[in-house]
Amino acid sequence: MKHFKGIQASPGIAIGPVYLYDPEEFLVDQRRVHPRDIPAEESRLRDAIAAVAEDFAATRAHVEDVLGKEHAQIFDAHLLILQDAALLDPTIARIRDEARNAEYAFWTTFRHLRRQFEAIQDDYLRERGTDLLGIEKRVLAKLCNWEKAGLDRLPHEAIVVARDLMPDDMAHMQPDRVLGLITEVGGPTSHAIILARGLEIPAVVSVVHALSEARMGDMAIVDGQRGHFILHPDRETLAHYRRLSKKLRARKAGLVDSRDLPAETTDGVRVALQANVELPNEVHSAMAYGAEGVGLYRTEYLYLAQNTLPDEASQVAAYSQMAERIAPQPLVIRTLDLGGDKMSHVLNTQPEMNPFLGLRSIRLTMEHRDLFKTQLRAILKASAVGNVKVMFPLISGVGELREALLVLAEVREELTREGVPFDDRCPVGVMIEVPAAALVADQLAREVNFFSIGTNDLIQYTLAVDRGNDLVAYLFEPFHPAVLRLIKRVIDAAHAQQIPVTVCGEMAGNPHSGLLLMGMGVDKLSMTPSALPEVKRAIRAVSFDQLQSLAEDVLNMHVIAEIRARITHAFSEEDDAGEARGQESVRPSTHKNAAQA
Ligand code: PEP
Ligand code: MG
Repeated sequence: MKHFKGIQASPGIAIGPVYLYDPEEFLVDQRRVHPRDIPAEESRLRDAIAAVAEDFAATRAHVEDVLGKEHAQIFDAHLLILQDAALLDPTIARIRDEARNAEYAFWTTFRHLRRQFEAIQDDYLRERGTDLLGIEKRVLAKLCNWEKAGLDRLPHEAIVVARDLMPDDMAHMQPDRVLGLITEVGGPTSHAIILARGLEIPAVVSVVHALSEARMGDMAIVDGQRGHFILHPDRETLAHYRRLSKKLRARKAGLVDSRDLPAETTDGVRVALQANVELPNEVHSAMAYGAEGVGLYRTEYLYLAQNTLPDEASQVAAYSQMAERIAPQPLVIRTLDLGGDKMSHVLNTQPEMNPFLGLRSIRLTMEHRDLFKTQLRAILKASAVGNVKVMFPLISGVGELREALLVLAEVREELTREGVPFDDRCPVGVMIEVPAAALVADQLAREVNFFSIGTNDLIQYTLAVDRGNDLVAYLFEPFHPAVLRLIKRVIDAAHAQQIPVTVCGEMAGNPHSGLLLMGMGVDKLSMTPSALPEVKRAIRAVSFDQLQSLAEDVLNMHVIAEIRARITHAFSEEDDAGEARGQESVRPSTHKNAAQA
């Protein structure tokens, strides 16, 4: 049994076989072959290698003609590798002795070879490993018909182990096949992990050496409650986790029973609890967990999930269906927030040095005006059938906001001219997620109908901590006094203009930080659907008085550890009661030491 500690990223327990995922890899089928088919597998391998050798020979001749002999020599080296016994012998042995299919045997041999190259000290020789990769891909392409690996083609239910995951990978995934997720890098507020939480897939990030230690098909456990990854669990450990998993499922079912109760403190103060959704299907779980509307619909997943830009009609259909489904409750549609870690290959944008500080979000849509207008048209059309609100992300000041509002005004005019129905009072809001916006919140509040604080980005930009980088994840601190002050400032600025404030970052979905935010005065908390029951339970167990005095104390404190201690103390009775009922206490999980404690 091997035990790894990482950072807790999405709760729950997963038990099952490992699937090693590398989007750069080919999808390599792993099969046992019948002894009588072994000669056929050997010939498939030899044919594929011969075909690639022929291609190399032809390319070699062409390169020699065009660029000269010196440049053509690299292909001589490729041809030698293809004929090398170090490649062929172990592959043939795997086919014959282990009865494996040709592509799997070849892929396994190459993995060993690549590791040997990676360990070489000499830079020049080590870089020859890259040549190996090219050769491997060519042969696999012949054997596998060019199928690239993807989470949409998992052969069976599995725990996916990857170096990193992009929102793009997640958007293509078959959620019913992914039991759990393990990544070697990445932080718990990266967009891929937010999506995992939305889909209720247990996940642990920053698990060092997970990829090199795990093998395809290994039995494993993802402990998303504590941030552990266990390979080859012994019988006792398996039994323990099966019991825990059952208990967690029962507890979740119990909490869902509270879905129709209000999120109200013991002294009668209410807050609206809403859901964040990424994929249209999540609306069902939002409703099942009792969400009072969708406080954040991340529309970029519509773009990431398909290979072409969604046209106006398909967007109208998606938004209208969702709006109708949850009416009369509101649906807050956020305009495209592509860029940063969410790159759509269909947009053809340039690679950037610092994508989170680059052409992201509202900046990108203002550059691609047609795309922006198409989306705004679709949102406004959907406003005719439900309680739709539109929200601009990553706004940093009044000038930028006014430009976006001008585009919206143009779209309204177009629709009016065309006689297309829409809600002409459709509320407009901005996300406050850049410190600059928080500092001029009083100015922004005069121009819009509501604010929604995106704490994931607000923390990242305020503290200069990349939200997706596990090396600095311990610095990603929601309780930093600078973050709390900015949030307080935004709440006060909104209320001075009588507009409501939501928090839709991950801080809202944690009972401790969510309750603190309520004490600070936010009107709504919007979170991943499965977090709703737990936050509601916590709210119903305290008085608003208690929360206000907690907020007052915390805003006057200087040291994060003391702030955490004060908050933990405030809720300790409640947590103890939860644990006595078989519940894990939910504490902010991003602190490195906490994750490794
Ligand atoms: C945020 O930044 O807190 C937010 C909700 O937006 P996203 O996580 O999609 O960047
Ligand atoms: Mg954001």
